[in-house]
Amino acid sequence: MLKLNAGLCVRSLSVESECNKCELVCPTTAIAIGESNLPAINFSECVTCGACTAICPSEALTLDEFDATNFFFDFVEDKDNLLSCRKNVPCISALSIEHIISLAVLKKEIVFDMGYCDSCDIAHTCHTQILKNYEEATYLLEAMENEAVIKLENVCYENEAKDSNRRDFLNAANLKTVAKMKKSFEDEVQKASDELTEHTLEKTDIALLRRKTIPNRRKIFFTAIKRVDTPSQFHIVDATEVSFTSQKLMDAEACTACQMCYRVCPTGALVSDTKNSKIDFDPFLCIKCHICHDVCEPNAITLASSYNVKEFFEPKVQSLMSFNVRRCDECDMVFSTNSSDRMCYRCKCEDEEARELWGITDDM
Ligand code: SF4
Ligand code: SF4
Repeated sequence: MLKLNAGLCVRSLSVESECNKCELVCPTTAIAIGESNLPAINFSECVTCGACTAICPSEALTLDEFDATNFFFDFVEDKDNLLSCRKNVPCISALSIEHIISLAVLKKEIVFDMGYCDSCDIAHTCHTQILKNYEEATYLLEAMENEAVIKLENVCYENEAKDSNRRDFLNAANLKTVAKMKKSFEDEVQKASDELTEHTLEKTDIALLRRKTIPNRRKIFFTAIKRVDTPSQFHIVDATEVSFTSQKLMDAEACTACQMCYRVCPTGALVSDTKNSKIDFDPFLCIKCHICHDVCEPNAITLASSYNVKEFFEPKVQSLMSFNVRRCDECDMVFSTNSSDRMCYRCKCEDEEARELWGITDDM
């Protein structure tokens, strides 16, 4: 069964968040952004393919039936290198790019079994997503000068479940896990319901929101990268081809030192110090969730058009902004600014509003 951890969903951090990756990748209509601004789930429509869990930048969605982190460690130990929806994954789209690259570099070769895609009900989105992931992973492996190979083959792996449909197979494959988990009565009721189940933030979620969390897949990725040879040169790749991390540019003129970008950043990729005198960026931690852009009113923070793979091998914190810290002439509060302003942003706005209201011009 699919679960949403509301405290990890980036939409919980701000109403400005435009993330709907889970909704877009879902091959049925099981996920829709609900009235509470969080993804709502129709459990009876969900086919537990796991594509949404893999695409969610913050690992807010999980499947009871498949844990990609546990799977990763089991598969690394396994002599076999075949990934098949009839063998070991609910759908190959349930593996994130970071998982795919990590498996490829550690196992040297992995094979995607595409043999069932043509007859699969959910291929219209999942097959497309698998190919996208394959292309991105292959592109980055090449940029890393890594010889690992990912193969797409029509293996049509067969087991005793071959004549049953996909959902029957998933249930059979996960029987052990399911028995262990003792699914609750409420879960079953939810699955039978043909309505979108809304999610809201609970007290425990709010505690999670305040915590900066690095997804497990990112930790796996960097652990795997540490075990591979550094390329002869660090290649610069097209940033639009990299879905899971980014590099940032800051327009110092446009930045109003409002502090929003680093306060909402879920992983701590954007940070400041206790005086709010700077903004630093650590690409190692960025999950490209886009919320820092969504909340930046003057669009001061933008995505760089290229990405240097050096960040995978020698991650370095970059300084994006440094501010002057001073007391506001009006309210006496300490504030950060990148200009010669004597008033904080709030007092400046209030001053501008008052001037507009009373028709006061600078030369008066
Ligand atoms: S953060 Fe994850 S769960 Fe939330 S909207 Fe984005 S993809 Fe969906
Ligand atoms: S830097 Fe921006 S895109 Fe990257 S994780 Fe933080 S908020 Fe998300």
